[in-house]
Parts: sequence; structure tokens; C-alpha cells
Amino acid sequence: MSVLVFGSLNLDLVTYADKLPAIGETIVGEKLLKFPGGKGLNQAIAARRAGSEVLMVGSIGNDADGDYLFDILKSENIDHRFITKTSEQTGIAVIEVSKSGENRIIIIAGANSKTKFSDEVLTSSPLVTVSLAQLETPIIEVAKFIQKSKAAGKITILNPAPIQKLDEALLQDTDYLIANETEASFLVGKAVEHLSKDEAVIIAKQLQKNGAKKVIITLGAQGSIYLDQEKDLFTPAYKVNAVDTTAAGDAFCGAFATAISEHKPVEYALKFASAAGALAATKAGAVPSLPSQQEILSMITSLD
Ligand code: ADP
Repeated sequence: MSVLVFGSLNLDLVTYADKLPAIGETIVGEKLLKFPGGKGLNQAIAARRAGSEVLMVGSIGNDADGDYLFDILKSENIDHRFITKTSEQTGIAVIEVSKSGENRIIIIAGANSKTKFSDEVLTSSPLVTVSLAQLETPIIEVAKFIQKSKAAGKITILNPAPIQKLDEALLQDTDYLIANETEASFLVGKAVEHLSKDEAVIIAKQLQKNGAKKVIITLGAQGSIYLDQEKDLFTPAYKVNAVDTTAAGDAFCGAFATAISEHKPVEYALKFASAAGALAATKAGAVPSLPSQQEILSMITSLD
């Protein structure tokens, strides 16, 4: 039982300063830190720490940043047979953070823009039960990955982030669509930042009309809603002292994929994913905040 992740790997360069500079202004910052990142890598690590075997497909540059990310995959025990080195530089996110927590981000896709799907990934990985993708690699390759995974009998999960238009065929090949409030709203032609539970269910129904099957809309500290052909469910968020919600969505997607790969009922998978999302919000950063299976299980059992 394992999870196959098709996605991006980035080096996050984070600068910290009192305020964000105005256009044309130069300011003195406090420090620069480097972290592994990219939604693909975050979700692969989230799924692995949540307890499943993970195989990742992605691209890095033939450079020191690529070597650094490759070493992270190795140290997390993620199968890296399908990580390709390209002539493009490793993907980079340049992140500016102010004291009050505002941020600005520029992403250079670099090697991620060269990530390609190959049939060999599926034919050589018979134990994969779940295929998981996001949209930081070319959508045409993501669509092939989801379509071929579906045809090979895998359970497919798409987290459409960063958001872009999805065609009906991609929605139909996706078993679980996991979007946050802004992404879900965008997909039905709205620009809304916050949704109530009821509004989210209405949007999920609209997404089903457009071809989606099972829809999960995450609602930050409120929790998440789930809709399939028979029922809708609301899973409240665990109450935590949130310090940094970066990667809460990635923790949720990775943990959900792990629970589904173990054929757990969807109600349980949603709870497991919510605990992972909440735990990720209690620590700073992306990868350092992704919880272990044991942390997730103790949060679920302590609050049942
Ligand atoms: P994204 O990071 O993609 O915007 P969300 O912010 O909706 O995604 O978070 C994903 C999930 O993580 C939520 O559905 C919730 O279960 C959990 N979560 C996020 N923020 C918090 C929080 N402040 N407290 C508790 N759980 C949270």
C-alpha cells in the first residue's frame, strides 16, 4: 500500500525583516533561512510521516540545491527512483516575511517545469494504491498522470494548487478533489476568500455538476466539508494554538492520501487529515511542521 506523488520540489529561501520593502526601496533584513519546499515534496513528506510508503516523481536541477532536496528525500525514506535531474535550475521560492507575518512570494519553477509523466512509473510500481498530484508542475503532465493512474486502477487525488482552470476530463479522472476556500471558489467562477460550511457545500455541488466526483473543501480553522453522490460531511478542525498555518493544506492532503491508501473509511481519513493539518499549524515552517503518524494518532485519540 503506497502513495505515489507527482509534483514539485523547491528550495524555499525565506528572508525576515521588520516590514516588507516598498517598490524601489532597499531595507536591511534580519536573516535568511533555507528550507525544503514545493507542494509535491511537502505532500510526499506529509504522507510518508503519516505512515505510508511514498514514491515521488519530480525534477531537480543538476546543482547544489537539487542535491540538498535529493538528500531530504533520502533522509525521509521516500523512494526517489523517479526524481530526474534536468538542465534547468532547481525550483526556488523567494519568500519575504515581515514581523507582522505578511508575506510576498516569487516562485521560479525551474526544473519543475520539465517534469514529465512516463508510463514506466505506474508499470514498475504495482504496490501503489493512491496517486496524488498538485499543480506546481505542468498541468498537461498532471492530467496524464491522473488519467493513466485512474486507468491503472489507482485512487486519484488532485489538490489544484496553485489554482488554475481544470477541464472536465481531469475532474472526471479525479476521485478526490481537495481544494481550499479560494481554490474551490475560483473553480466555480467566484473570488471568495472565506466560505461558511453551507456555502462550501453549494460550491462542492457545483463542482460535481462540472464533473468532479468526491469533493473536499478545506476551511482553515473551521475544518472541512466533504461531498460525494450520497452524502455530505462536516469535519470540524481540532482546536490548537496556531502559530503558522503554512503547509496545513499539504499536511491535510498527504495524511488523507495515506489513510485512503490503507482503505480507511472516508470519515476516518478526514479526521486523520484534519489532525495532521491542525498539528502543522502549531509549528513554524512547512517541512519542520509536518507531523508523524504517532502525533496524528495521539491527537485523534486524546480528543475522541
Ligand atoms: P491551505 O493551507 O491549503 O489554505 P487550509 O488552511 O484550509 O488549507 O487548512 C487545511 C486543513 O488544516 C483545514 O481543513 C483544517 O483541518 C486544518 N487547519 C488549518 N488551519 C488550522 C487551524 N488554525 N487550526 C486547526 N486546524 C487547522
